[in-house]
Amino acid sequence: MNPSANTAVRALTLGVAHAALLFCLGCGCSGAAVKSTAGTQEPRSEGRTPGAEDRTPGAEDPKRTPEGKECPETGRDEAGLRGVVAYLASPELAGRVPGTEGDRLARKLIAARLECAGVEPAMAGGSYVQPFTNSEGASTANVLGVLRGSDPAVASEIIVLGAHHDHLGHGMLGANDDASGVAALLAIAERLAAGPAPRRTILFAAFGSEESQTDAPDAAAFEGSEHFAANPIPGLAVDDVVFMVNMDMLGTYSAAGTLNALGTWEGSVGRPFVEAAAAQAPDLDVTLGYDSNLSDNVSFCTRGIPYVFFWTEDTACYHKTCDTADRIEYSALEQIAEVVGSTVAAAANATADLSVSVRAGVDVCLEPKPTR
Ligand SMILES: [Zn+2]
Repeated sequence: MNPSANTAVRALTLGVAHAALLFCLGCGCSGAAVKSTAGTQEPRSEGRTPGAEDRTPGAEDPKRTPEGKECPETGRDEAGLRGVVAYLASPELAGRVPGTEGDRLARKLIAARLECAGVEPAMAGGSYVQPFTNSEGASTANVLGVLRGSDPAVASEIIVLGAHHDHLGHGMLGANDDASGVAALLAIAERLAAGPAPRRTILFAAFGSEESQTDAPDAAAFEGSEHFAANPIPGLAVDDVVFMVNMDMLGTYSAAGTLNALGTWEGSVGRPFVEAAAAQAPDLDVTLGYDSNLSDNVSFCTRGIPYVFFWTEDTACYHKTCDTADRIEYSALEQIAEVVGSTVAAAANATADLSVSVRAGVDVCLEPKPTR
């Protein structure tokens, strides 16, 4: 609990978190978007899902998965993003530590929302879950959904859009890090699945155990994404990934007044995609350039795969107990999700040959230094 938080905002946030938790457990399935359902009390008017008032009075939620599970009308808007972050960063999930009940509930929400979006399970047998045991012995999993490419010439090429669902616990709830990225991931999955089929295949990846880094010399960093890369899923192997878009900490835009698109140095593969996407969001400042080897993009760029890593600075509450859902800037997050989604769409539909940009066996995480 953040003692400096505005009381009204905090009350709203907790109300949303509790409503979301009850909703999710109550139907055993569905999303945490703030929505109006029979018997669910609305915390505040701004928590309503736009369009909810248009429903037939007394009608049940009209949108369901093929299995009949309830879905929110949308998670793409500000209220939808707020609902996902409030649930993932709720005290009930206790910081989503790998192997805990909070970790399991987070993954359950993500899988349900990918299903609602109409994104296919990535695993054989119709599962979204790629389980693994991390270096600390905790059983956890990646949650993976796929949108198949439509152009036979490039459909085997994969664009990965990733965020990590785990966090640290011990009072740290990880709203910005990285519930914000997961909320954006689900919003973008919904948007792209509803649009025209992309030319290339898009893999939506909520990675587990990004935060767990032991001091053991052989322990992998960024364990979920590393597990994905090292354990090929049939038809979705890392060898076919041509570009990776990572999202980690998207909720604190105003801290530095910019959205960083790391990995987009001059001449990089992702730079024109981000430039085109940013041009559609004139209210958002986007910083190009720089690089990073501090998040899940590492599991790809160390294998020669170009990346963009979207990130907002958060020196105040990074890995602290004040990283709570009430301080996430949801309006900016909605715009950021639009930019990231457009970047992914641009890569997926690019006419350029992206396969030549992969330099297998070469570490492309850091900007090449000029040779003199
Ligand atoms: Zn993170």
